[in-house]
Amino acid sequence: MTSIPIQKTITPKPKPSIQGLPFGKYFTDHMFLMDYVEGQGWINPRIVPYGPFSLDPGTIVLHYAQEIFEGLKAYGTPEDGVQLFRPEENIRRLNLSAERMCIPPVPEDVAFLGLKELIALERDWVPMEAGASLYIRPFIFATEVTLGVYPSQTYTFCIITCPVGSYYPEGVNPVKILIETEDVRAVRGGTGYVKCGGNYAASIRAGGRAAAAGFSQVLWLDGLHRKYVEEVGSMNVMFKIDGHVITPELSGSVLGGITRKSVLALLQSWGVPVAERLISVDELIAAANAGKLEEAWGTGTAAVISPIGEITYEGVRYVINDGQTGALTQKVYDNLTGIQWGRQEDPFGWTVRVC
Ligand SMILES: *Cc1c(COP(=O)(O)O)cnc(C)c1O
Repeated sequence: MTSIPIQKTITPKPKPSIQGLPFGKYFTDHMFLMDYVEGQGWINPRIVPYGPFSLDPGTIVLHYAQEIFEGLKAYGTPEDGVQLFRPEENIRRLNLSAERMCIPPVPEDVAFLGLKELIALERDWVPMEAGASLYIRPFIFATEVTLGVYPSQTYTFCIITCPVGSYYPEGVNPVKILIETEDVRAVRGGTGYVKCGGNYAASIRAGGRAAAAGFSQVLWLDGLHRKYVEEVGSMNVMFKIDGHVITPELSGSVLGGITRKSVLALLQSWGVPVAERLISVDELIAAANAGKLEEAWGTGTAAVISPIGEITYEGVRYVINDGQTGALTQKVYDNLTGIQWGRQEDPFGWTVRVC
């Protein structure tokens, strides 16, 4: 396949002002679609005007959540180009999620071509303001009409995009987080390592409680022992303890973030010692009490790096780096965003120019 058929909209929408634009509310003019039909495979890739789906109330995804998604961004460069950051990693992970959820894998070349052609078509929607980007949401859902519990025979693969402003309009800001001791988001053997809507549905309650108590995110502990640190909100988490950067290993209940992987590579290239291993909450608190918990941050596509200024565990607050963004946190943020927005050289070959 060398190109995707495109049906252009005849009613283009006005482009909103990027300032104050809420995340994920305002979508662009077109979307990519592809269908799966048992016996025929993935068929009919196409780009069409953005618009609603019509679903039978008995559609299987509405009942049993056989659904997966991805998240990445298109970045406007100083030369007025548009580039993606490690998109092949997102497509690979989409198929990893598909395997877990019994969804047939999408052909990677068609998905990649559809993604690039959609972004090229929507290039005027890619915001050029500092820190702004075009967020890209690929997703696949089961469309068979049945209340039977088995893998659907039909699926829809869709990619939608939306302009998003800077995550940090007032500069990078450390957040307060709460260690969640009741709810868990995932267990080994479950779906914690894949991007599926169900993981998010299960995490909303704890997130809401934390927000009501004045915290930005929860720090999740493992589902079996409630002992080992796993993720922060829907981001991976890293700690700088006594000069070493430590992040939870990908044990099966932790999502393998592309930002996480990229940050580890950056740190290694600078000679910073990094370890992927189990970190117990006791180790973390002991390090904090000994003054050795030097920095902490979350990693994910949306915020890139989210510094953690304070952790609360069983009612006790632990302030990290006086609540300020740490020097290494800032260096990682500056370098990674520099590569993503094309402001600095990309020695790793991570970026893909689209147009
Ligand atoms: C998407 C996601 C991340 C971050 O992954 P990136 O590829 O870095 O955006 C981390 N944790 C969870 C639970 C996620 O869904």
